[in-house]
Amino acid sequence: SSQPNVPRIRKLDPTVVKRIAAGEIIVQPANALKELLENAIDAGSTMIDVLVKDGGLKLLQLNDNGCGIAREDMPLLCERFTTSKLLRFEDLSLISTYGFRGEALASISHIARLSVVSKIAESPLAYKCYYTNGQTATLKFKQDPNCKPQPVAGNGGTQITVEDLFYNLPSRLHSLRSKNDEWIKILEVLGRYAVHSEGVGFSCKKMGEPHPSISTRPNASLKERIRTVFGTSVASELIEFDFPCEEFGLSSIKGAVSGFNYNNKRKIQPVLFINNRLVMCDPLKRAINSVFQVFLPKGNHPFVYLSLLIEPQNVDVNVHPTKQEVRFLFEDEILEWICGKIHDVLSERDNSRTFKQSV
Ligand code: ADP
Ligand code: MG
Repeated sequence: SSQPNVPRIRKLDPTVVKRIAAGEIIVQPANALKELLENAIDAGSTMIDVLVKDGGLKLLQLNDNGCGIAREDMPLLCERFTTSKLLRFEDLSLISTYGFRGEALASISHIARLSVVSKIAESPLAYKCYYTNGQTATLKFKQDPNCKPQPVAGNGGTQITVEDLFYNLPSRLHSLRSKNDEWIKILEVLGRYAVHSEGVGFSCKKMGEPHPSISTRPNASLKERIRTVFGTSVASELIEFDFPCEEFGLSSIKGAVSGFNYNNKRKIQPVLFINNRLVMCDPLKRAINSVFQVFLPKGNHPFVYLSLLIEPQNVDVNVHPTKQEVRFLFEDEILEWICGKIHDVLSERDNSRTFKQSV
């Protein structure tokens, strides 16, 4: 007959579905790095070393000295919705700010070749596993649920190796043309965690280079961490603050901003953490910038680091698949409160400046 062929509806293969979903969560290597850094920090690490090749597309490797993963847990590690951080349904709202609820490693295993070496303090040996599509795999990354963790020599803590990110998403790989752009985004994410994470040292090295591009000591002060990552001139006149708050579900805001002699023409995105997760919040950024406009010469940009602790049930992280964009209750009130505080510290500094200049 002349009837056109009507395409039939078929169910997609579950592996394909998961791969598509994973590619939406992990859009670029820096997204994977963020998840892996958070895991290492959650594990109580005090030192996290990162090695990168080809902007993280060829290799993204993290070594941490955290609590490690028990051998018995390794086969489950990359299954979706497996986590050691959430036990009861009632905890769900409390942990909603904490990323992917057991999805990060699963996602990565669907779009990269993932291997994990880990040793817990109680075990004399480390164990190694390969993963693909959420399951354990052979050395060649062939899916095989019967693969057992292999004993290997290793230090306490965890090594996560992500190779060939997006190897099975060719269009994505093609769209990420510049390895250098990806490397810069990796340094941006790592630098921000290095500034924020008190008691944790970080290093980030490009494969083949003799020295890391970023290196911070675990016991460095906030000022020293900011100096290491953002440069001496930012740190020289830094204004640090820590305000308690009992309103709007806000329990504290901590942070630091550059002083008035910081002569910077380049816009630096504020380093913004809400409940210890690196986030974007454009309304907050705009509000803070407008406070600075009063104090800074035109065209000068401040350095801003803010860490907010907000009641987790007031935070909505489900605004963006990568969960970097957040919304929270009492947003206007909180913004106003923060801007008022920052305005106060800046005017205080401004007054002492005028005073010094006039005598
Ligand atoms: P989530 O962080 O939401 O639990 P992930 O997929 O990121 O989900 O990680 C799954 C689990 O793997 C974590 O709950 C944790 O138990 C374990 N894990 C992941 N990375 C590490 C690490 N670096 N050190 C120790 N345990 C880890
Ligand atoms: Mg995680």
